[in-house]
Order: sequence, then C-alpha cells, then structure tokens
Amino acid sequence: FPLFTVSEEVLPVATKHTLQQWSVEDSTELYGIRNWGAGYFNVSAAGEVTISPMGEGKGPQVGIPEIIRGMRERGYDMPVLLRVENILDSQISFLHESFRNAIKKLDYKGEYRGVFPIKVNQQQQVVEKIAQFGTRFHHGLEVGSKAELIAAVSQLSDTQACLICNGYKDEEFIDLGLHALRMGFNCFFVVEMPGELDLILERGEALGVKPSIGVRAKLSVKAGGHWTDSGGERSTFGLTPAQIVDVVDRLRERDMLDCFRLLHYHLGSQVPNIRDIRTAVMEGSRLYAGLVQEGAPMGYLDLGGGLAVDYDGSHTNFVSSRNYNLDEYCADGVEAIMTILDEQGVPHPHIVTESGRATVAYYSILLFNILDVSAVEFGSLPDQLPEDAPESVRNLREVLHSLTLRNLQECYNDAIYYRDEIRQLFITGRVTLRQRTLGERFYWAIMGRIAEEKTKLKHVPRDLADIDVGLADIYYGNFSVFQSLPDSWAIDQLFPVMPVHRLSEFPSQQCILSDITCDSDGRIDHFIDPQGMKSTLNLHPLRDGEEYYLGVFLVGAYQETLGDLHNLLGDTNVVSVRINDDGSYEFVREIRGDTVSDILGYVEYDPRRILEEIRTTAETAVRQGRLTPSERFSVMQAFEDGLRGYTYFER
Ligand code: PLP
Repeated sequence: FPLFTVSEEVLPVATKHTLQQWSVEDSTELYGIRNWGAGYFNVSAAGEVTISPMGEGKGPQVGIPEIIRGMRERGYDMPVLLRVENILDSQISFLHESFRNAIKKLDYKGEYRGVFPIKVNQQQQVVEKIAQFGTRFHHGLEVGSKAELIAAVSQLSDTQACLICNGYKDEEFIDLGLHALRMGFNCFFVVEMPGELDLILERGEALGVKPSIGVRAKLSVKAGGHWTDSGGERSTFGLTPAQIVDVVDRLRERDMLDCFRLLHYHLGSQVPNIRDIRTAVMEGSRLYAGLVQEGAPMGYLDLGGGLAVDYDGSHTNFVSSRNYNLDEYCADGVEAIMTILDEQGVPHPHIVTESGRATVAYYSILLFNILDVSAVEFGSLPDQLPEDAPESVRNLREVLHSLTLRNLQECYNDAIYYRDEIRQLFITGRVTLRQRTLGERFYWAIMGRIAEEKTKLKHVPRDLADIDVGLADIYYGNFSVFQSLPDSWAIDQLFPVMPVHRLSEFPSQQCILSDITCDSDGRIDHFIDPQGMKSTLNLHPLRDGEEYYLGVFLVGAYQETLGDLHNLLGDTNVVSVRINDDGSYEFVREIRGDTVSDILGYVEYDPRRILEEIRTTAETAVRQGRLTPSERFSVMQAFEDGLRGYTYFER
C-alpha cells in the first residue's frame, strides 16, 4: 500500500531539466522575472538579465553584466546599488497616464495630482529626479517632518504641484510651511491631531498668511497586508468623523471655513486587495461629500499611499503581491469617487495620491558578488562498520539501506531519532567524536536520499519539504541584509533575487543566502515562488577565478531609508545610470559608499583620535621590542588605509 502517489507531471521544473538541455526560457520561468519585472527586466538570449527602462518591448535594452563591467572599470567594488533613472521617469509617466486615461474615459471633471512621500526614499538624488521628471505632470511631494519639508522646498520648483504637510507639526514646522505658501507653493497643512488646528490658525495669523487646511480622516475600513495598522479606527493618526465635524465648527466660528481645502486618508502601505482600496475610496468620498455639504470649499481628495508592488509576481492578494494593476487602481478610484459624489451633486475634486512604493521600487537594484559557499559535507561511508560502532550508528545504516519511496516519512523519523540518540550519548561520554562523526554521515546520506526521492511525490509532507533547507548550500553574499534589505529581516518581506548572468546554464544548487554580518539573522531564506514562497533558491555552482553576481530587485522603496549599521557595514556604492535611446548608457551620478572612517564617525569615534591611540600602542610595542620602527610604519599605514577603505569585502 503506497503511502504517497507519484506523478510525472508534478516533477519540479529543476528536476525535469537536469535530464534535458536547460534553456534561457527555463531560467525566465524559474525566477519568474516576467511576472514581477513589470516589463523592465527580462533575460537575453545570452542568458543575462536585461533592463528595458521604457517597459516591455519598448525602447532600448541593456544587460546588467555590461553595466557591472562598466562599474568595475571605473573602480567600483560590489556591493553596488544600481539606480536606473529612466525607470523612475517611466513609473511617474505610467501613473499619470493611467489616471489621465481613467479621467478621460469616465468624463471625470477634476484632475490628478500625484505626490511622492519623501519618507519612502529621501535620498537627494531620488527626490531631485522625481521633482524634475514630475514637473510636466505637476507631480508634487509629501512631507512628514521639518527636515523633509526643507528638503522638499529645496527640490520642488513647480508651484502648481501639491506640497502636502502630514505628520505631527510644531510651531516651526508650521511656520516653514507658511513661508512655502508665501513663496507660491501649493502647500497644504493636514491636521493629524485635533490640537494642531489652533496652532496652524494662530501661526497663520501671526505671519499674515492664510493656510490651506486639510484633515486626515480615520476610516473605519482596514486593509489586509503587512501595514494594516496604518489605517482603521485604531490608527495612530487622523481624526474621527466627530473630530472632523469639530474642525468645521471651529473654522466656521473663526470665519475661516474657506481655508478647508483637502481631505486625506491613508489606508496603509502595500494594500494587496483592490476591494479594500475601493471600499476606502467610497468611505473617503462620503466624508468628502459631507464636508462640502457643511459649506467647506474643499477641492482636493487625497487617497494616501497603498498602491502595491507585485514583488512575487503572483498577481494575487498575498502580502507580497496585488490582485490589480495600475489601470484598475486608477479606474476603480475615479469611478468610486464619481459614483458617490454625482449621487450627492458634489463637484469632482482633484485627486491626490501619495504613492511611494510603486513609484520608486523598480528603480533600484542591489547587486553583489558571492564570496564563498558552504555545503553539507556528506563524507564517504564505509562498506563495513568498525567493530566498535555503537548501536545507533548501526541503526542509521539500516535505515539508509531500507529507504524506498514508500517509507520516506518513517525513515526520516528514524534518522532524526538515532541522530539525536548519538548526540545524547556523545554528551554523556558514551560515544567518541569519531563515532559521532560516522553517525552524522549516515544521517546526512539518509537526508540526501530522501531529498532525491521526495521529488517524485505528488504531495510532499511538511517535514520532508523542510529537508531542502537543511541540505541547502549557503552562498555568502557581499552585502548586509540590515543595511540594504531591512524589510527582509524585520518583516520577512519578499524581494525577487536571482543571478544576473549564466542564465542559459542549469542552476543546479539549492541555496540560501547569507550576508557578511556575523549575525544569524543576516540571511535570506525565503524566496518568491509562483505557488507562494520557497525556502531555497536555485543558483549556479561557483567557478574558480570568476565572479558570480546576484541582483535583488525592486528595492527602491523604504530599504535605503530604514537600513542600519549592523556590524558597521555602511552605505553601499550607488551608481545611477541613464539608458540612451541607442542602447548605450551613461553613469549620471556616482556616490562612493561609506568608508570605515565615515562609519566610525557615525557611532561617535573620532578617526584622528583612533589613529593617535593606535600609534601610541604601536610605539609601546616598539619600546618593548615587539615591533621594529619600520614595522610600526607599515602597521600604521595598514590602519590608515583601513580607515579609508570600503566597509564591505574587497577582493
Ligand atoms: N502617505 C502616508 C501618510 C504614509 O504613511 C505612507 C507610508 O506608509 C505613504 C503615503 C506611502 O505609502 P506607499 O509607499 O504604500 O505608497
């Protein structure tokens, strides 16, 4: 009676192709690049990942390995954060075109005014480019602090674009916003807490500027996904309907209701389900209509962020995905607003969205090289067991010999049992180191056989599925998860990871990735998969004397901002390229990553004092005869060079 049934059609792709010729098409399917790449990324016939910054089938195309060669020639070591400027340009254009199409098709009377929330990527170059590319669409900025407001005012020149001030505001924040209004910016103060209103009005009066006021509403709707707590009645920021009505009354009392121009809500980031988005728009539109009926002039409805990125390419309502596309997002939003406002006879407002993630995620790719591999050592098994082999080792050998497709789970359980027994006997001194090693070899041989056999099963039991992780090779990547992919560590967010070359070769190794921090959390062991998620990634065996490069894609949103200095690994090199129409590319901006000296400075060390102290120690060593004066010179030179060096692994 077979425990599990075997079906040929369900063999995993990788297994099928070990038998045949592996093709570029197989790699495309395995890594799902066409599903998550949004047309920007694909694989060339030569087996290299290519970038098409205008989108699928449009405009020029450049291979990532070619860009890496260019970086290396210019002296940039890995890891490098590669930004592709024209992708940012394309994303802003697509967002506006989609809204424009929906507005035209539905005969909506208002306009679309997008803003980029600076917190999603505050790097000067990113904000500058968004302000620059966005001018033709009047794309504005959203800020949540004084520093962000000052940065925004310095980068934005289009006075028709919106400048939305969210966040908790003190007097200085408000004054800065009022000065921006005075300079002609279309600046809105969004009241996040009831107490803020009086301060805004007071400062407006003091500076003689009439503020444009908005409120952030707490909606009753709550979205699914990682960031659900940003929305809903229990969200930290925002006003309840009763508090919003109170704002209307207080403004009317002061004869300033004409300042009330905008209603804002934010459901949370990465909202995977279009139903939640639509329900929120409906609730927001009802509140908006209510405010117009109360006599507020209004004119702007700000739907916040939430437009999700399909990181795993599954097009589902899974947290790393979204069950809608950009056109559906825009059309559903515009239609829901119209349906409700037309019913109430309320004029159509300008629609604002604060899309951050969807605007910048595609724009940045983290590139790094693999430094080393550690694989499970199976070791050879003896034909004959030594005389003194303990009972548990004999039992493991027996398990290995009796293993068939029909008793996989049983053999798995037995192997674990006898391995644990040997470990216990070793701790209590009844098994020698050599005997334990022999037992572990049999154990791994059993696991290896189970891993092979289980690929023939239609349904793989959970325990057996996890064997792959135990048997996986560990590929050590030259990067820090904490610095460059903090969401992967903190909230298990999935990002597409794949080799950027050798894609015409069969990636025979099952791997997990470790970074170069010595932290056990510094690893990536969850990968995207069309069926949800997988715990190993197929990679190629390393070749002597040849670098192997991987890319982590879609990392432009939040990662740079949230990254930290774990193990004092700092900012990576950043290289921005612009791909020209003829397929050539230019390095438009290069930012060297942090040096060791920079990083030590961030954590309160003074590099000059460090050198003085090391010099004193070296001089003491000279006095004690442990170093010669000329050795002291080379020691000091090594430390001085070390301070100037890159914080990552340098070949
Ligand atoms: N607006 C506000 C108020 C936010 O808090 C956020 C981030 O959570 C955003 C916009 C950006 O959201 P997203 O990146 O999902 O577009």
